[in-house]
Amino acid sequence: MQMPTGATRLAAVIGSPVRHSLSPQLHNTAFETLGLDWIYVALEVAPGSAAEALSAMRILGIDGFSVTMPHKEAVAAACDELTDDAEALRAVNCVVNSDGRLIGHNTDGDGFIDALNAELGLDPAGLRCVVLGAGGAARSIGLALARSGATQVAIINRTAARAEEAVALFPEVGVVVAPGEAAACIAGCELIVNATSIGMGSSAETAGAGDVPFDIALITAEHTVVDIVYRPLVTPLLAAAQARGARTANGVSMLTHQAAIAFTLWTGVAAPISAMTAAVSSMLVD
Ligand code: NAP
Repeated sequence: MQMPTGATRLAAVIGSPVRHSLSPQLHNTAFETLGLDWIYVALEVAPGSAAEALSAMRILGIDGFSVTMPHKEAVAAACDELTDDAEALRAVNCVVNSDGRLIGHNTDGDGFIDALNAELGLDPAGLRCVVLGAGGAARSIGLALARSGATQVAIINRTAARAEEAVALFPEVGVVVAPGEAAACIAGCELIVNATSIGMGSSAETAGAGDVPFDIALITAEHTVVDIVYRPLVTPLLAAAQARGARTANGVSMLTHQAAIAFTLWTGVAAPISAMTAAVSSMLVD
């Protein structure tokens, strides 16, 4: 990495906890690859202090923030302007400091769509999709799938009220399906996305029924199965899907592509995706 100078531009991730974040390696690799005089650091910001962190961003002239838990909603409330996605989701994962005006974006959904394209060559237009989960990631993905022309986005979630809230974001193609009634819907769809945290930290070798989000016997070779979890790289769901002949992808590509969109928003330069993917993959060896 080049020596910082008085002209070095600054970006950071704010969150709590944040020290485990892969974003510094992802973005610093990108800056270094392109020879940009930028640096990216992780800043621990206590819950409840997001608005103050944004004030500091203005005062200190920090160029870009990535935003992670638990600040995505509070940052959305404190930005000067929101993109359509960030406004709909009321959640921001990327802030651009445009001459002191803070613009909140949500790059998760577009990052997911870019990852589908790049890793699997898949365009969701015309597909029937199932999204498991109704949290922040599931909402972004459901909205992005709907905007990309999916003909159906079924949300299956443990807590029904959260599923209803998610579907309200894309009512034209969204449908709530109760977990107990999911079989026909999963069997009849082309794309299955796990956007719950089920499988995180689980090992395929020791996995039990609680480590996969639905009955794996429903998966066929006709399905594409994406698990946005990336720790481990091969979740019990992905291991089962691969064994049943489905096309699969893990969460690394979405992680890289949502960061790549942020990188371009801050710098105005196309992100070096393959260098970023290599950096993140080397940190995530199972
Ligand atoms: P979140 O807002 O906390 O949502 C978690 C979701 O998982 C909820 O729908 C929750 O259901 C469900 N869930 C959790 N434990 C469950 C269980 N035991 N049984 C059934 N459902 C369960 O989290 P998030 O931000 O959306 O993130 C979800 C996952 O995606 C995390 O593992 C995160 O690391 C990953 N992620 C990956 C990327 C990427 O770039 N690859 C980006 C964002 C997130 P309830 O509503 O019923 O609680």
